[in-house]
Amino acid sequence: MKVTIPILNNEYKAVFCCGDESEVKKVLKDCYHVTDDISNDFFDNHRGLCFYDSSCHPVIAMPKFPETPDEIATLAHEASHAVNDIFRKIGETHSDEIYSHSVGAIVRKVLEKKPK
Ligand SMILES: [Zn+2]
Repeated sequence: MKVTIPILNNEYKAVFCCGDESEVKKVLKDCYHVTDDISNDFFDNHRGLCFYDSSCHPVIAMPKFPETPDEIATLAHEASHAVNDIFRKIGETHSDEIYSHSVGAIVRKVLEKKPK
């Protein structure tokens, strides 16, 4: 699964993906600007990760769709890294409120996509 969340406008976006390592690898490859890769046993040791790129499209990866309180906490954690990355790159340092709304938007948009 892959969810794209615009942040502030359509130029900046966070990407959320979940699935096993091979699915995440596919999304990272799609996002050609992400140069990091993921090892085949990555999710044995990580609950989630945020990958960064040279533009403003950080990619949040998780092993499964977040449902439990712990998994949703991990999503919020990675969402804050993603928004930090975008804000750092555009030089936004003034608004706590916009930052918090952006983190909220990622968590909301992802959870809205809960598979039925
Ligand atoms: Zn972290």
